[in-house]
Amino acid sequence: MGETRRSIWLRHDAVLAHDVPGHPERPARIRALEAEMSAADWFGCTRVEAPAASREALLGVHPETHVTAIEELCASGGGAIDADTFAVPATWEAALRAAGGAVALVDALLGGDADFGVSALRPPGHHAETDRAMGFCFFNNVAAAARHARSAHGLERVMIVDWDVHHGNGTNDIFHADAGVLFMSIHEWPLYPGTGPASDVGSGEGEGFTVNVPVPGGTGDLAYTSLVEHVAGALAAAWEPQLVLISAGFDAHRDDPLASCRVSEAGFAAMAASLRRAADRLGAPLGLVLEGGYDLGALAHSMAALMPALVDVGTPRAAAPPELHPLAVRALERLEPYWPGLGASVRA
Ligand SMILES: [Zn+2]
Repeated sequence: MGETRRSIWLRHDAVLAHDVPGHPERPARIRALEAEMSAADWFGCTRVEAPAASREALLGVHPETHVTAIEELCASGGGAIDADTFAVPATWEAALRAAGGAVALVDALLGGDADFGVSALRPPGHHAETDRAMGFCFFNNVAAAARHARSAHGLERVMIVDWDVHHGNGTNDIFHADAGVLFMSIHEWPLYPGTGPASDVGSGEGEGFTVNVPVPGGTGDLAYTSLVEHVAGALAAAWEPQLVLISAGFDAHRDDPLASCRVSEAGFAAMAASLRRAADRLGAPLGLVLEGGYDLGALAHSMAALMPALVDVGTPRAAAPPELHPLAVRALERLEPYWPGLGASVRA
């Protein structure tokens, strides 16, 4: 391992108590991740206990009624919210820590306490809409973090790249009309939750700041890395975000049981390196917020594979820039009305 920059790993034991027997979004995910990290001496990261999110941070993206409904459901013993989203009493604190970790990550990155960090908590967040828990998610962790960066730190431009295999419908909706948060999602389609067509580009002032790239099942490293390098990278170069957050699910991995994409550990590492280069060119900090990933080995090994590109001092070199994949060509063509010249800059 090379020399590492100041990096943090946000975690908390309370997230292990959100436990619904037989559910794929399970405490063993965090145990597998932490065992892998521990075996690698945490890649030089300082472990930080995630604080509970403040009410204010939650209310940045959710109405009071939603926060209270989750709190009361947990306090009354828990129960089902939909066919695959279940709360137990301990879900409340776990959800607060998962959102609070993402917000604390932003504080550390923007406050100068860390150069890079991972918020490695659960439940995940990207399916949680403003007033609706769904898809294993209760509060939208990455959205709370991005909104906090805007409201508490005064940032004007925050970019979220969501490479979880499912569409981040919650994040999509929360920032739909917001030109201060550029949301790009690469997701398998058709697949749960069924949202995120390429035609959904945001609305109002946010038109053009929602970038949906549905990909067919079976899509692997070549397309994913090309989309991150040539579309996300080009958007970052054009818009110059002051902070880049990765909504990092690992369920696009070929071994994941919930989807059928074919990304490998090396693919995740290449995507991370690509975004690190894009962020470093802008002097923007980069943070990673855990979303899905349901094969324990795929989850742990993929995270371990991408850490060196993010924690090492010095921008990772592009060994062989991925070719411009047809899916990236089509995405760039669709972006042309909103981002004139973006495709040309890539082809040049
Ligand atoms: Zn997912």
